[in-house]
Amino acid sequence: MTNQDKMNELLNQEITKDNVTAVDKSFKELMKTLFASIKEIDKDARKAFGQTVNEFKTAMEEKINAIKQSMQSKGKQDEYVDLTLSKPKLQYGAMHPLNRIYKRFESYYINNGFNVVSGPEIELDKYNCEMLNMPAHHPARGMQDTFYLEFPNKILRSHTSAMQIRYMLKHNPPVKIISPGIVYRVDDLDPQHTPMFFQLEGLVVGENITFSDLKGTIMNCIENVFGKDIKARFVPCYYPYTEPSAGIDITCPVCGGKKCRTCKNSGWIRIGGCGMVHPNVFKNVGYPENIQGFAFGYGMSKFPQIEYKLPELRILHDNNIKVFKQLH
Ligand SMILES: [Zn+2]
Repeated sequence: MTNQDKMNELLNQEITKDNVTAVDKSFKELMKTLFASIKEIDKDARKAFGQTVNEFKTAMEEKINAIKQSMQSKGKQDEYVDLTLSKPKLQYGAMHPLNRIYKRFESYYINNGFNVVSGPEIELDKYNCEMLNMPAHHPARGMQDTFYLEFPNKILRSHTSAMQIRYMLKHNPPVKIISPGIVYRVDDLDPQHTPMFFQLEGLVVGENITFSDLKGTIMNCIENVFGKDIKARFVPCYYPYTEPSAGIDITCPVCGGKKCRTCKNSGWIRIGGCGMVHPNVFKNVGYPENIQGFAFGYGMSKFPQIEYKLPELRILHDNNIKVFKQLH
């Protein structure tokens, strides 16, 4: 069968919705053969051959497209809406467990006259470390090793305390702020640690601020958020930006202090740290010498882990809706 015969056969074939795919395939294959055969044709006959092939191509495409379009519009006519079908169930979202507990803390501090301030997660070394009494090569920097974006100046903040410096540089005392946010540290992933976690810090500065004010503020907050059954204690600790410094422990909410796995059989859980602001920090931001103040910080991720008895901290960051649906 010559190419001309093949063209005639396809042109004469009746195209229906049942054979349109097969005809389209044969047409495309024949076009390939026709193009490939051009070089075998005499130069003089090439022009006429090209014209014949073009006419064949246009005619076939028109026929095939007409059938395809009629099939599409027919499909649309066949569509109908079944009004008896039940509508899909709406999925309702909920507040993240971490956020829900944070809101309890936030409302306590706002009710007690604190302002909420937030700062950048990409921070300068001078705000995150240097002005907080941690100059370069200070051994305490190792306690909160972080991620450098641009060595040595640009880092992911290792605590929200950097915001305390930013705030004090712009505002004169008295200061009463809390600063919540995500912070980053080079921690290996284990049940109690993630390289990214949520922190809430506070700062109170003024004249005649004492350690008793610090204790009263923390104890009141714990009682307010977790109820009267939970007790807090202060354990001597070291932070370069506070002196004296203390770790904040609360009685284990899971066992009520009777010792269990969550509290590693101690009856207490460390929830954060605090202390009186180091005089060097005040000097760095240009505050007068008669000024005193205290700062505190909580690792917020601990609280939902305790409240919902989560085996791993990273469950909070995995964004698994099946898990969050159970945490109400
Ligand atoms: Zn316990």
